[in-house]
Amino acid sequence: MPEKPLRPATIAVTAGRPKAEPDAPLNVPITMASTYVAGGDTEYGRYGNPTWTAFEEALGGLEGGRCLSFASGLAAVATVFDLVGQGQTVVAPRHSYNGTIMQLADLESRGRITARLVDVTDTDAFVAACEDASLVWLESPTNPALEIADIPTIRAAAHEAGAYVAVDNTFATPLAQRPLEMDVDLVVHSATKYIAGHSDALMGAIITRDDELFGVLKNRRDLIGAVPGTLEAYLALRGLRTMHLRVERAEVNAKELVRRLEEHPAIDEVRYPGFGGIVAIVLGQGAMAADLLTRKTSLWVHCTSLGGVESTFERRRRWNSEASSIPDALVRMSVGIEDVDDLWDDLRTALDDLV
Ligand SMILES: *Cc1c(COP(=O)(O)O)cnc(C)c1O
Repeated sequence: MPEKPLRPATIAVTAGRPKAEPDAPLNVPITMASTYVAGGDTEYGRYGNPTWTAFEEALGGLEGGRCLSFASGLAAVATVFDLVGQGQTVVAPRHSYNGTIMQLADLESRGRITARLVDVTDTDAFVAACEDASLVWLESPTNPALEIADIPTIRAAAHEAGAYVAVDNTFATPLAQRPLEMDVDLVVHSATKYIAGHSDALMGAIITRDDELFGVLKNRRDLIGAVPGTLEAYLALRGLRTMHLRVERAEVNAKELVRRLEEHPAIDEVRYPGFGGIVAIVLGQGAMAADLLTRKTSLWVHCTSLGGVESTFERRRRWNSEASSIPDALVRMSVGIEDVDDLWDDLRTALDDLV
Protein backbone atom coordinates (compact mmCIF):
# COMPACT_ATOMS: atom_id res chain seq x y z
CA MET A 1 0.00 0.00 0.00
CA PRO A 2 1.48 3.41 -0.91
CA GLU A 3 2.26 5.56 2.10
CA LYS A 4 0.07 8.59 2.65
CA PRO A 5 2.05 11.79 1.96
CA LEU A 6 2.87 13.65 5.17
CA ARG A 7 1.79 17.22 5.78
CA PRO A 8 4.36 20.05 6.09
CA ALA A 9 4.43 20.31 9.91
CA THR A 10 5.09 16.58 10.20
CA ILE A 11 7.79 16.67 7.52
CA ALA A 12 9.45 19.62 9.29
CA VAL A 13 9.63 17.70 12.56
CA THR A 14 10.43 14.19 11.33
CA ALA A 15 12.30 14.30 8.00
CA GLY A 16 16.01 13.51 8.07
CA ARG A 17 15.97 11.79 11.45
CA PRO A 18 18.14 8.70 11.88
CA LYS A 19 16.36 5.33 11.78
CA ALA A 20 14.58 4.81 15.11
CA GLU A 21 16.36 1.88 16.72
CA PRO A 22 17.54 1.23 20.28
CA ASP A 23 20.10 3.78 21.41
CA ALA A 24 20.25 5.60 18.07
CA PRO A 25 20.23 9.37 18.62
CA LEU A 26 16.75 10.75 17.95
CA ASN A 27 18.22 13.54 15.82
CA VAL A 28 21.23 13.63 13.57
CA PRO A 29 24.48 14.56 15.34
CA ILE A 30 27.01 17.09 14.08
CA THR A 31 29.47 15.04 12.06
CA MET A 32 32.83 16.78 11.97
CA ALA A 33 34.72 14.98 9.21
CA SER A 34 36.92 16.27 6.40
CA THR A 35 37.46 12.73 5.12
CA TYR A 36 35.92 9.27 5.38
CA VAL A 37 37.41 5.80 5.31
CA ALA A 38 37.88 4.81 1.66
CA GLY A 39 35.56 2.47 -0.17
CA GLY A 40 32.20 4.16 0.52
CA ASP A 41 30.02 6.57 -1.47
CA THR A 42 31.20 9.85 0.07
CA GLU A 43 35.01 9.65 0.47
CA TYR A 44 35.67 13.34 1.20
CA GLY A 45 34.12 16.16 3.23
CA ARG A 46 33.48 18.37 0.20
CA TYR A 47 31.34 15.66 -1.40
CA GLY A 48 28.96 15.01 1.44
CA ASN A 49 28.22 15.03 5.15
CA PRO A 50 25.51 13.21 7.14
CA THR A 51 24.41 16.45 8.82
CA TRP A 52 23.90 18.15 5.43
CA THR A 53 22.03 15.08 4.23
CA ALA A 54 19.57 15.30 7.13
CA PHE A 55 18.93 18.98 6.39
CA GLU A 56 18.57 18.24 2.68
CA GLU A 57 16.03 15.49 3.32
CA ALA A 58 13.95 17.83 5.45
CA LEU A 59 13.97 20.83 3.09
CA GLY A 60 13.68 18.58 0.03
CA GLY A 61 10.66 16.94 1.67
CA LEU A 62 9.01 20.31 2.29
CA GLU A 63 9.59 21.57 -1.27
CA GLY A 64 8.86 18.21 -2.88
CA GLY A 65 12.19 17.61 -4.62
CA ARG A 66 15.87 16.72 -4.11
CA CYS A 67 17.85 19.30 -2.17
CA LEU A 68 21.49 20.39 -2.23
CA SER A 69 22.72 22.64 0.55
CA PHE A 70 25.21 25.47 0.02
CA ALA A 71 27.37 27.79 2.08
CA SER A 72 24.91 30.68 1.67
CA GLY A 73 21.90 31.74 -0.34
CA LEU A 74 24.13 33.61 -2.77
CA ALA A 75 26.34 30.55 -3.24
CA ALA A 76 23.18 28.72 -4.35
CA VAL A 77 22.19 31.64 -6.63
CA ALA A 78 25.66 31.69 -8.23
CA THR A 79 25.48 27.95 -8.86
CA VAL A 80 22.19 28.38 -10.73
CA PHE A 81 23.57 31.31 -12.78
CA ASP A 82 26.55 29.10 -13.63
CA LEU A 83 24.13 26.90 -15.62
CA VAL A 84 23.70 29.74 -18.13
CA GLY A 85 25.82 29.34 -21.25
CA GLN A 86 28.28 31.98 -22.44
CA GLY A 87 26.48 35.03 -23.89
CA GLN A 88 22.98 33.79 -23.10
CA THR A 89 20.16 35.74 -21.51
CA VAL A 90 18.78 35.72 -17.97
CA VAL A 91 15.44 37.41 -17.26
CA ALA A 92 14.84 38.47 -13.66
CA PRO A 93 12.58 40.82 -11.67
CA ARG A 94 14.11 44.31 -11.46
CA HIS A 95 13.43 44.19 -7.70
CA SER A 96 15.07 40.84 -7.04
CA TYR A 97 17.16 40.48 -3.90
CA ASN A 98 19.97 43.02 -4.10
CA GLY A 99 22.76 40.41 -4.04
CA THR A 100 21.11 38.56 -6.92
CA ILE A 101 20.97 41.77 -8.99
CA MET A 102 24.62 42.48 -8.15
CA GLN A 103 25.63 38.98 -9.30
CA LEU A 104 23.79 39.49 -12.59
CA ALA A 105 25.45 42.89 -13.07
CA ASP A 106 28.84 41.37 -12.33
CA LEU A 107 28.32 38.52 -14.81
CA GLU A 108 27.11 40.99 -17.43
CA SER A 109 30.03 43.37 -16.90
CA ARG A 110 32.41 40.49 -17.56
CA GLY A 111 30.61 39.58 -20.78
CA ARG A 112 29.35 36.27 -19.40
CA ILE A 113 25.61 36.81 -19.87
CA THR A 114 22.97 39.35 -20.82
CA ALA A 115 20.71 40.30 -17.89
CA ARG A 116 17.23 41.56 -18.64
CA LEU A 117 15.54 43.11 -15.58
CA VAL A 118 11.78 43.52 -15.83
CA ASP A 119 8.93 44.69 -13.59
CA VAL A 120 7.60 41.33 -12.38
CA THR A 121 4.12 42.73 -11.73
CA ASP A 122 3.79 43.43 -15.47
CA THR A 123 3.19 39.82 -16.53
CA ASP A 124 2.85 40.67 -20.25
CA ALA A 125 6.19 42.49 -20.32
CA PHE A 126 7.85 39.74 -18.33
CA VAL A 127 6.47 37.03 -20.64
CA ALA A 128 7.63 39.01 -23.69
CA ALA A 129 11.13 39.27 -22.19
CA CYS A 130 11.34 35.47 -21.86
CA GLU A 131 11.34 34.90 -25.63
CA ASP A 132 15.04 34.13 -26.16
CA ALA A 133 16.07 33.56 -22.53
CA SER A 134 17.99 30.57 -21.30
CA LEU A 135 17.15 31.15 -17.61
CA VAL A 136 14.10 32.86 -16.15
CA TRP A 137 14.64 33.87 -12.54
CA LEU A 138 11.69 34.63 -10.29
CA GLU A 139 11.37 35.86 -6.77
CA SER A 140 7.91 36.13 -5.25
CA PRO A 141 7.28 38.05 -3.12
CA THR A 142 10.24 40.25 -4.10
CA ASN A 143 12.66 41.67 -1.54
CA PRO A 144 11.91 44.40 -0.41
CA ALA A 145 9.16 45.65 -2.76
CA LEU A 146 6.89 42.68 -1.85
CA GLU A 147 5.60 42.26 -5.41
CA ILE A 148 3.93 39.00 -6.45
CA ALA A 149 4.77 37.18 -9.70
CA ASP A 150 2.27 35.21 -11.77
CA ILE A 151 4.46 32.09 -11.57
CA PRO A 152 2.29 29.69 -13.65
CA THR A 153 1.94 32.11 -16.59
CA ILE A 154 5.60 33.08 -16.63
CA ARG A 155 6.68 29.47 -16.11
CA ALA A 156 4.70 28.38 -19.18
CA ALA A 157 6.14 31.16 -21.37
CA ALA A 158 9.68 30.43 -20.19
CA HIS A 159 9.38 26.72 -20.95
CA GLU A 160 7.87 27.58 -24.33
CA ALA A 161 11.11 29.50 -24.97
CA GLY A 162 13.19 26.53 -23.80
CA ALA A 163 14.47 28.33 -20.70
CA TYR A 164 14.98 26.91 -17.24
CA VAL A 165 12.82 28.51 -14.54
CA ALA A 166 14.15 29.11 -11.04
CA VAL A 167 12.20 30.59 -8.13
CA ASP A 168 13.84 32.17 -5.09
CA ASN A 169 11.37 30.99 -2.44
CA THR A 170 13.11 32.59 0.55
CA PHE A 171 10.29 35.01 1.43
CA ALA A 172 7.35 32.68 0.90
CA THR A 173 8.94 29.51 2.43
CA PRO A 174 7.65 26.10 1.31
CA LEU A 175 4.85 26.50 3.84
CA ALA A 176 3.17 29.19 1.72
CA GLN A 177 4.39 28.34 -1.79
CA ARG A 178 5.81 25.20 -3.42
CA PRO A 179 7.05 26.25 -6.87
CA LEU A 180 8.03 22.71 -7.93
CA GLU A 181 4.32 21.89 -7.83
CA MET A 182 3.92 24.66 -10.43
CA ASP A 183 6.44 22.82 -12.64
CA VAL A 184 9.36 25.19 -12.24
CA ASP A 185 12.77 23.54 -12.58
CA LEU A 186 14.63 24.91 -9.57
CA VAL A 187 13.81 26.39 -6.18
CA VAL A 188 16.46 28.44 -4.40
CA HIS A 189 16.59 29.41 -0.73
CA SER A 190 18.56 31.61 1.53
CA ALA A 191 18.22 29.21 4.49
CA THR A 192 19.81 32.02 6.48
CA LYS A 193 16.34 33.54 6.80
CA TYR A 194 13.13 31.71 7.85
CA ILE A 195 14.53 28.19 7.56
CA ALA A 196 17.37 28.58 10.08
CA GLY A 197 15.30 31.34 11.67
CA HIS A 198 17.49 32.51 14.56
CA SER A 199 19.88 35.02 12.94
CA ASP A 200 22.88 32.85 13.74
CA ALA A 201 23.81 30.92 10.57
CA LEU A 202 24.33 31.48 6.84
CA MET A 203 23.18 28.75 4.50
CA GLY A 204 21.56 28.23 1.12
CA ALA A 205 19.87 25.48 -0.86
CA ILE A 206 18.69 24.43 -4.31
CA ILE A 207 15.84 21.96 -4.76
CA THR A 208 14.83 20.24 -8.01
CA ARG A 209 12.85 17.26 -9.28
CA ASP A 210 15.06 16.95 -12.37
CA ASP A 211 17.64 14.22 -11.73
CA GLU A 212 19.88 15.39 -14.55
CA LEU A 213 19.94 18.97 -13.25
CA PHE A 214 20.52 17.65 -9.74
CA GLY A 215 23.59 15.79 -11.00
CA VAL A 216 24.96 18.87 -12.78
CA LEU A 217 24.45 21.03 -9.69
CA LYS A 218 25.97 18.43 -7.36
CA ASN A 219 29.03 18.35 -9.64
CA ARG A 220 29.30 22.14 -9.49
CA ARG A 221 29.13 22.05 -5.71
CA ASP A 222 31.74 19.27 -5.52
CA LEU A 223 34.08 21.22 -7.79
CA ILE A 224 33.63 24.75 -6.49
CA GLY A 225 33.25 23.82 -2.85
CA ALA A 226 30.67 26.37 -1.68
CA VAL A 227 29.54 23.79 0.89
CA PRO A 228 27.92 24.57 4.24
CA GLY A 229 29.72 24.13 7.53
CA THR A 230 28.50 21.17 9.54
CA LEU A 231 27.49 23.33 12.49
CA GLU A 232 25.48 25.57 10.12
CA ALA A 233 23.67 22.57 8.67
CA TYR A 234 22.85 21.40 12.19
CA LEU A 235 21.56 24.85 13.19
CA ALA A 236 19.52 25.19 9.99
CA LEU A 237 17.90 21.80 10.57
CA ARG A 238 17.26 22.65 14.22
CA GLY A 239 15.61 25.86 13.03
CA LEU A 240 13.60 24.14 10.32
CA ARG A 241 12.00 21.85 12.92
CA THR A 242 9.98 24.80 14.26
CA MET A 243 9.65 26.86 11.09
CA HIS A 244 5.90 26.29 10.77
CA LEU A 245 5.29 27.60 14.29
CA ARG A 246 7.60 30.59 13.88
CA VAL A 247 6.20 31.57 10.48
CA GLU A 248 2.63 31.19 11.74
CA ARG A 249 3.28 33.45 14.72
CA ALA A 250 5.23 36.01 12.68
CA GLU A 251 2.32 36.17 10.24
CA VAL A 252 -0.27 36.69 12.99
CA ASN A 253 1.91 39.49 14.40
CA ALA A 254 2.51 40.99 10.94
CA LYS A 255 -1.20 41.10 10.09
CA GLU A 256 -1.99 42.84 13.37
CA LEU A 257 0.83 45.35 12.89
CA VAL A 258 -0.29 46.05 9.31
CA ARG A 259 -3.77 46.88 10.61
CA ARG A 260 -2.31 49.33 13.17
CA LEU A 261 0.37 50.79 10.89
CA GLU A 262 -2.22 51.63 8.22
CA GLU A 263 -3.85 53.99 10.71
CA HIS A 264 -0.69 55.83 11.67
CA PRO A 265 -0.30 59.38 10.25
CA ALA A 266 3.51 59.10 9.92
CA ILE A 267 3.10 56.37 7.31
CA ASP A 268 2.22 56.95 3.67
CA GLU A 269 2.07 53.39 2.50
CA VAL A 270 2.03 49.90 4.01
CA ARG A 271 2.99 47.02 1.74
CA TYR A 272 2.04 43.49 2.73
CA PRO A 273 1.51 40.56 0.38
CA GLY A 274 -1.20 39.06 2.62
CA PHE A 275 0.98 36.32 4.13
CA GLY A 276 4.31 35.89 5.88
CA GLY A 277 6.17 38.11 8.32
CA ILE A 278 7.70 40.78 6.09
CA VAL A 279 6.07 44.22 5.94
CA ALA A 280 7.35 47.32 4.17
CA ILE A 281 6.33 50.82 5.22
CA VAL A 282 7.01 54.10 3.46
CA LEU A 283 7.41 57.08 5.82
CA GLY A 284 5.55 60.22 4.76
CA GLN A 285 8.39 62.53 5.82
CA GLY A 286 11.12 60.89 3.80
CA ALA A 287 14.42 59.11 4.30
CA MET A 288 15.52 61.15 7.33
CA ALA A 289 12.35 60.23 9.19
CA ALA A 290 12.89 56.60 8.23
CA ASP A 291 16.46 56.70 9.54
CA LEU A 292 15.25 58.34 12.72
CA LEU A 293 12.65 55.62 13.23
CA THR A 294 15.29 52.88 12.98
CA ARG A 295 17.29 54.55 15.76
CA LYS A 296 14.45 55.29 18.14
CA THR A 297 13.13 51.87 19.02
CA SER A 298 14.34 49.52 21.72
CA LEU A 299 12.76 46.18 20.79
CA TRP A 300 13.01 46.56 17.03
CA VAL A 301 16.66 46.16 16.11
CA HIS A 302 18.15 48.13 13.23
CA CYS A 303 19.93 45.58 11.05
CA THR A 304 19.78 43.93 7.66
CA SER A 305 18.57 40.37 6.99
CA LEU A 306 15.22 38.94 8.01
CA GLY A 307 13.28 35.85 9.01
CA GLY A 308 14.63 35.46 12.55
CA VAL A 309 12.61 35.11 15.75
CA GLU A 310 13.61 38.72 16.49
CA SER A 311 11.86 41.78 15.04
CA THR A 312 14.33 43.75 12.92
CA PHE A 313 14.06 46.55 10.34
CA GLU A 314 16.09 48.74 8.06
CA ARG A 315 15.75 51.48 5.46
CA ARG A 316 16.73 49.56 2.36
CA ARG A 317 18.05 52.52 0.37
CA ARG A 318 20.78 53.01 2.99
CA TRP A 319 22.54 50.51 0.70
CA ASN A 320 23.86 52.30 -2.39
CA SER A 321 23.34 49.16 -4.43
CA GLU A 322 19.57 49.04 -3.76
CA ALA A 323 17.44 49.80 -6.86
CA SER A 324 16.56 53.49 -7.14
CA SER A 325 12.95 52.48 -7.88
CA ILE A 326 12.64 51.37 -4.24
CA PRO A 327 11.27 54.40 -2.32
CA ASP A 328 13.95 56.26 -0.37
CA ALA A 329 11.79 56.20 2.77
CA LEU A 330 10.89 52.50 2.59
CA VAL A 331 11.61 50.57 5.76
CA ARG A 332 11.52 46.79 5.46
CA MET A 333 10.32 45.16 8.65
CA SER A 334 10.95 41.54 9.55
CA VAL A 335 8.28 40.84 12.14
CA GLY A 336 9.40 38.43 14.83
CA ILE A 337 7.56 36.21 17.29
CA GLU A 338 7.56 38.52 20.32
CA ASP A 339 4.30 39.76 21.87
CA VAL A 340 2.63 41.95 19.28
CA ASP A 341 1.51 44.57 21.82
CA ASP A 342 5.09 45.10 22.98
CA LEU A 343 6.20 45.37 19.34
CA TRP A 344 3.49 47.90 18.63
CA ASP A 345 4.14 50.00 21.77
CA ASP A 346 7.81 50.27 20.79
CA LEU A 347 7.01 51.20 17.18
CA ARG A 348 4.16 53.55 17.95
CA THR A 349 6.22 55.54 20.45
CA ALA A 350 8.92 56.07 17.82
CA LEU A 351 6.39 56.83 15.06
CA ASP A 352 4.44 59.30 17.22
CA ASP A 353 7.64 61.33 17.61
CA LEU A 354 7.81 61.72 13.84
CA VAL A 355 4.48 63.50 13.38
C1 LIG B 1 19.15 36.98 1.90
C2 LIG B 1 18.62 36.57 0.60
C3 LIG B 1 19.43 35.94 -0.36
C4 LIG B 1 20.90 35.71 -0.12
O1 LIG B 1 21.13 34.75 0.86
P1 LIG B 1 22.45 34.74 1.80
O2 LIG B 1 22.18 33.56 2.68
O3 LIG B 1 22.49 36.05 2.51
O4 LIG B 1 23.62 34.57 0.90
C5 LIG B 1 18.83 35.55 -1.54
N1 LIG B 1 17.54 35.79 -1.81
C6 LIG B 1 16.73 36.41 -0.93
C7 LIG B 1 15.31 36.66 -1.28
C8 LIG B 1 17.24 36.83 0.29
O5 LIG B 1 16.43 37.46 1.16
